[in-house]
Amino acid sequence: MTLAIMSALLDEQRGLLERLDKPQRVKRAGRTFWCGQWAGQDVVLVLTKVGKVAAATTTTVLMEVFDVKSVLFTGVAGGVGCGVQVGDVVVADAFIQHDLNSAPLFPRYEIPLYGRATFDCDPRLSALLLEAAQRGLAGVGDHCHRDLPLASPQVHRGLIASGDQFVCDPVAAALMRADLQAAGHEPLAVEMEGAAVAQVCHDYGVPFAAMRTISDRADAQAHLDFSAFVTQVASPYALAVVSQFIQLRSGK
Ligand code: SAH
Repeated sequence: MTLAIMSALLDEQRGLLERLDKPQRVKRAGRTFWCGQWAGQDVVLVLTKVGKVAAATTTTVLMEVFDVKSVLFTGVAGGVGCGVQVGDVVVADAFIQHDLNSAPLFPRYEIPLYGRATFDCDPRLSALLLEAAQRGLAGVGDHCHRDLPLASPQVHRGLIASGDQFVCDPVAAALMRADLQAAGHEPLAVEMEGAAVAQVCHDYGVPFAAMRTISDRADAQAHLDFSAFVTQVASPYALAVVSQFIQLRSGK
């Protein structure tokens, strides 16, 4: 019952890797997969790399080579929903590709030949992740960002939009949100990999859940202190939530 834990960036993965017992490195398709155990459970850790194509390749290799039975993603994202602040966490209900547009052949956002625009996350795994986030973040202590203390992190649940762009322009972010809303979709966060992972998991029938710590508001400040945020805030959050998730998953 191997669990895959995917991260986009090395700094997001580092803390998780330190927790892996008997780590074994396997290389495939230019990616490094770390197989091992965490609290007695079989786990494989991998970096998706950045962007939808890279994430789809990584997920496909996971499915074909590692016999993965569930997939968990932890990473960072830009907050675009009302009240989704830097330092908050979004647990995904579903994913959409905000840059997919085959109109007029297909309705905007619809993935051609799938007859749908969104992929839902697995409800059971996501409920477990939500509980893990609530428990894990209650114990993380205070963190600062740009010398300002972060308020105690809120955990949101909803739609995440993925695309091959780092969104760092308030006008672009507002337009993306308005276009999605006009098609009936209400995104809470924007990032670059999740919808691809969700689609491959759907293709293989493997349950998927994802969380993103909000690193920025997809505005002109989005790239400032990005790496520091990942190291100082998102990584300890991910470690706290994943630890709880693994405990809950084993029924303890
Ligand atoms: N600085 C990194 C690259 C980061 S790319 C490097 O040099 O390696 C941005 C990553 O953060 C992606 O994994 C993406 O999913 C996520 N992300 C965070 N904020 C985002 C935003 N505003 N728009 C798009 N992706 C964002």
